[in-house]
Amino acid sequence: MFKWLLLFAGAGLFYLWIKGKKQAQFNAENPPKPNNKPERPTAPEVMVQCQYCKVHLPQPEAFTFDNRFYCSKEHLHALDSNGWVGDAQWRISPNQDTRPENVIPDLVVIHHISLPPGDFKNQSSSQHIVDFFQNKLDPNKHPYFAQIADQKVSSHFLITRSGDLIQFVSTQNKAWHAGISSFFDREKCNDFSIGIEMEGDGDSPFEASQYQVLANLITKLASTYPHLQFAGHSDIAPGRKTDPGIYFDWKKFQKETGISPEKLPFGLSSR
Ligand SMILES: [Zn+2]
Ligand SMILES: [Zn+2]
Repeated sequence: MFKWLLLFAGAGLFYLWIKGKKQAQFNAENPPKPNNKPERPTAPEVMVQCQYCKVHLPQPEAFTFDNRFYCSKEHLHALDSNGWVGDAQWRISPNQDTRPENVIPDLVVIHHISLPPGDFKNQSSSQHIVDFFQNKLDPNKHPYFAQIADQKVSSHFLITRSGDLIQFVSTQNKAWHAGISSFFDREKCNDFSIGIEMEGDGDSPFEASQYQVLANLITKLASTYPHLQFAGHSDIAPGRKTDPGIYFDWKKFQKETGISPEKLPFGLSSR
């Protein structure tokens, strides 16, 4: 019995050996055809850098805003360590300089502006303000522009009628928005303040979307600058300036930002 089993196993092995030899011969005679199909070109993965935290990531995974990239929504919506807000349009103004040494902003000044005054019908009127802060205002476009085109002014932020947020100067630097001014005996308010322009005039209410964008911006600023107080331009330059004017709703501002009324030393009444 055992003999038979051995015989069978031997025959099996012999069969496999022969089969293997044949396959090797076949392979030698029929070399595999070279694959002439061109390989599908794979696009090199474009890497971008998060503007906020500098981490590198593939572009399709990044959040993009105003030609900048962010690794997360959180970083897109934050104020970065250089004093720039991620979800603002950056339109750098040359009208700025450095703050005095060791001065951290502790005041926000609210303004209004429209160019020409009272004209804020469309996006092009917002663009006039951008041009003005970038020293690019065309004096031939309007008689009023001819009067102001040479002024060198700026603010940190502009909130347009349609709720766009535009930033001109880093919060770490001094924007030229307040002029001759005094905040409780502290002069030259530009040194220690952040200027925010609301597109509008003294004769009409501001848009609800402008208050929302403003409240959002204040939340970001307050998390970096915890000692901020808030005033209107007319509060720090009385007799010389009237903005943001009687239509700026300080109660609504306080309610939407949730800041303590003590941080509004000029009160909540319209003025
Ligand atoms: Zn990031
Ligand atoms: Zn002003």
